[in-house]
Amino acid sequence: MTAAFPALLPTYNRTPLRFVRGEGSWLTEASGARYLDLTSGIAVNALGHAHPALVQALTDQAQALWHVSNLYRIPAQEALAEALVAHTFADTAFFTNSGTEAAELAIKMVRRYWHDQGADRTTILTFEGAFHGRSTGAIAAAGSEKMTAGFGPLMPGFKTLPWGDHDALRAALDDTVAAVMVEPVQGEGGIRALPDACLKGLRDLCDATGALMVLDEVQCGMGRTGRLFAHEWAGVTPDIMMVAKGIGGGFPLGAVLATAKAARPMTVGTHGSTYGGNPLACAVGAKVVEIITADGFLEAVRRKGGQMRQQLEALVACHPAVFEEVRGTGLMLGLKCRMPNTDIVKAAQAAFLLTVPAADNVIRLLPPLTISEDDITESLRRLDQAASTLA
Ligand code: PLP
Repeated sequence: MTAAFPALLPTYNRTPLRFVRGEGSWLTEASGARYLDLTSGIAVNALGHAHPALVQALTDQAQALWHVSNLYRIPAQEALAEALVAHTFADTAFFTNSGTEAAELAIKMVRRYWHDQGADRTTILTFEGAFHGRSTGAIAAAGSEKMTAGFGPLMPGFKTLPWGDHDALRAALDDTVAAVMVEPVQGEGGIRALPDACLKGLRDLCDATGALMVLDEVQCGMGRTGRLFAHEWAGVTPDIMMVAKGIGGGFPLGAVLATAKAARPMTVGTHGSTYGGNPLACAVGAKVVEIITADGFLEAVRRKGGQMRQQLEALVACHPAVFEEVRGTGLMLGLKCRMPNTDIVKAAQAAFLLTVPAADNVIRLLPPLTISEDDITESLRRLDQAASTLA
């Protein structure tokens, strides 16, 4: 043991808050102070903290069976795959423990698809500001200096394009490209949504060139934008999609969903995971999917998202020196800031409100999808209080 070195690898600049309990949209700190949570563990606790149905699903499964490995059939995993296939474009699903692992499989699936066709197409186009995780493949995909510095040589096969530059995309996307990988709404990148027309245009370009369309819905999926998946707003479907975060409601779970065409070359032995799709995660995931797809749930997300957005527009109008604009849809919202976003996150925290900073000087507002209308109004009151202290 080296005395001066922290026992926890210090890769995070943590806020010194220690939460000990969560209930719905509220977190209780060790001191007893209660915070209104607009972070949801970075878009993870889609149904809030300690949702009774998720606690029950996890407890029931924990009492029956925790783990058997993918050597055997796992009924909860099969049920979750069937539910996802029934509610999406996908023909098939593979379960992972995180979004990063989903990104890794998506990349492998693209490579294998073209390998299977005997074609030398390995370039995946990605976009500046993207975030696909922290594995060597995922940092190479995003390509940002901040994430890749010191970790070279980077995995080859990615070309990062500027965000929102149609001409650059058209010039790069030809019939040598293997796939395009994009978040319909960039989360870490600062709640930057790809307009529906662009997603449609991208689908058309992929169809014309044969390139696969890979959507990363790790952050914007699972009801966050008011549709089960964000791409549904544009009326197009991908070939491959990464899912994680909200699907586990707080239990580690991710997935790759794909069409049969894209997935067919992934035959026995081409991929695997010890924990991916374990009974505990899938029992929770199946309950999350059941609740989010139940009648009226997504409609309520859209209604509450509209309410919150309207109140945020009023907040921006009241504090023009603090905020510049509102971004996002549903309950995936952001405030572009005029002062450093981290100062605003701190001021909100002093008002017992939790928010998440993102790139592009944005603060993210990602409440549980189950947040009440009263708590939305309360969160806006606290944001107003925070902004007033800064102005
Ligand atoms: N993709 C996107 C869009 C994300 O926002 C994230 C995490 O923030 C990831 C991938 C990586 O997911 P995980 O942290 O679960 O590995």
